[in-house]
Amino acid sequence: MELSVVGTGYVGLVAGTCFSEIGNKVSCIDINKEKIDSLNNGQVPIFEPGLKELVEKNRMEERLKFSSDYSSVGRSKIVFLAVGTPPQSNGKANLEYLFQAAKDVGENLSDDTVVVIKSTVPVGTHRKVQEVISSVTTKRFAVVNNPEFLREGSAVKDFMEPDRVVVGYSDSFVKDILKELFSPLVSGSQYLEMSNLSAEMTKYAANCFLATKISFINEISRLCDLTGADIEEVREGMATDDRIGGHFLYPGPGYGGSCFPKDVQALVQTGQEYDLPLELIMATESVNEKQKKVMFYKIKDYFKGKLEGKIFTFWGLSFKANTDDVRESSSLVMAELLLSEGARLQVYDPEGAENFMTVIKESAPDLVKGISVCENKDLALQGSNGLIVMTEWGEFRYPSFEKIKMSLETPVIFDARNLFPTEKVLEEGIDYFAIGKKVRGS
Ligand code: NAD
Repeated sequence: MELSVVGTGYVGLVAGTCFSEIGNKVSCIDINKEKIDSLNNGQVPIFEPGLKELVEKNRMEERLKFSSDYSSVGRSKIVFLAVGTPPQSNGKANLEYLFQAAKDVGENLSDDTVVVIKSTVPVGTHRKVQEVISSVTTKRFAVVNNPEFLREGSAVKDFMEPDRVVVGYSDSFVKDILKELFSPLVSGSQYLEMSNLSAEMTKYAANCFLATKISFINEISRLCDLTGADIEEVREGMATDDRIGGHFLYPGPGYGGSCFPKDVQALVQTGQEYDLPLELIMATESVNEKQKKVMFYKIKDYFKGKLEGKIFTFWGLSFKANTDDVRESSSLVMAELLLSEGARLQVYDPEGAENFMTVIKESAPDLVKGISVCENKDLALQGSNGLIVMTEWGEFRYPSFEKIKMSLETPVIFDARNLFPTEKVLEEGIDYFAIGKKVRGS
C-alpha cells in the first residue's frame, strides 16, 4: 500500500519506518528541511534503539522516502498526521501544526483517501480536521483517529508488537483498508474499532492513568521517607497483586517527557471546557511538580544549606533511559535548582547531553556556564561533591562503588532512580540517599 506520514519526529519517523518494514511504500514528509536532508543523507536525527538500521534498510530497498513537499499525498491511500501538539501556556494542546498539515494534505488529496490523525489530540478534534480539509478540497476523504501508544526508548518494538491498535472512525469505507494495513501487527481482540471521539479520549485516559500511577507511588514514597517504611518492599507488596501490577509503579524524580506532562494538562483543560474539574488528574500533576524537587531538598539538607561552590555529578539527563529526549526531564529542574544556589555540574548522558544543553541554554542562559558536559560517567565523577543519578540507563546500574568513592570529593550518592543496593553502597562507606528507601536507622 502507498502511504504518506506527515511529521517526521519520534512518532512519525518510527511509524513511517515500521510501515515500510512491513511492506508498504512510505513517504515521510516534514517541513523541517534540515531534518529531511539529513535523513536523505543516511542520518537519523533521533536516538531510538533499532531505528537507524531499519531506516537504512528500507531506504535502500526503496520503500521509504523523505521529502519536504506533499506530492506523495495524491498517490497515497492513507495519510497519517503525526505532527507535534505541544502545550500552550494555559496547558491546552496547540493544534496549529495539525491544522496546517491538514490543510496542506487537503490541497494534495485524491478521492477516497483516509486521513489518519496519529498525533495526540483533544476529544472532538477530528471534526475540526474534517472542516479544515473540506475547506480546500471537494475530494472524498475520511478522517480517522489512531492514537499512538509507543514509548520512547522502545518505540520500534512497541510499534511492531503493540498491545493493541485503536482505530476511531465513522465512514464505513475505511474499515477494510485500515484492517489490511494493521493486520501484520495485530489480530483479533487487539484490534479495537470505536468512534473517533472514544479513540481521542482513550489516548488521554490511558496516559493520564499511567501518570497517576507514577504520582501515586511517588507520593507513597514520600510517606515512606517519613515513616521508615521502605518503598521498594512496599512496591513489591503491591505489584504482586494482579489487580495492580508492577508497571509504572517505580518511584523516581517525577515523570517527564513530551507526553505525560502535556497530556495531563490538556485533559485538565478539556475538563474545564465542560465545567468538570478533573480533581484526580490535577492532583497527579501537582504531586509530580513536588516530586521533581524531592531529591534537591535531600541534597540541600545534607550540605546544611551550603551548596555554593559545590560540584555535583549528574548520571543521566534524558527523561528516561534509552532516549535522547530531554523534554520536561526532571534533570532540567534539578540542574536549575542547584545552579541557582551557586553549585556547578559535571553531567554525563549516553545520548541526551546535546539536547539538554540546547534546552537549558534557552531556559536558563545565565546559569549555563556552571555546567561541564563530560565524555563518560567516570570523568563526570572527578572531584565532585556528590553523584546524583537522574536517569536509569543500563550503564549506570552496576558501577564500581570503590571507584565512585575514590573519585568523589565527598562520598555521597543521591539516587533518584533507586538503582543501587543500599547495603552495598553503605558498606563502601558512601552516604546514600534514595527515593522512599529505608537507608538507615529504625
Ligand atoms: P516531534 O516534535 O518529535 O515531531 C513533530 C514533527 O512534525 C517535527 O519534525 C516537525 O518539524 C513536524 N511538523 C510540524 N508541522 C508540520 C507540518 N505542517 N508539516 C510537516 N511536518 C510538520 O513530535 P513527536 O514526539 O513525534 O509527537 C507527535 C505527536 O505524537 C504528538 O501529538 C504527541 O503527543 C504524539 N505522541 C508522541 C509520543 C512520543 O513518545 N513522542 C507517543 C505517542 C504519541
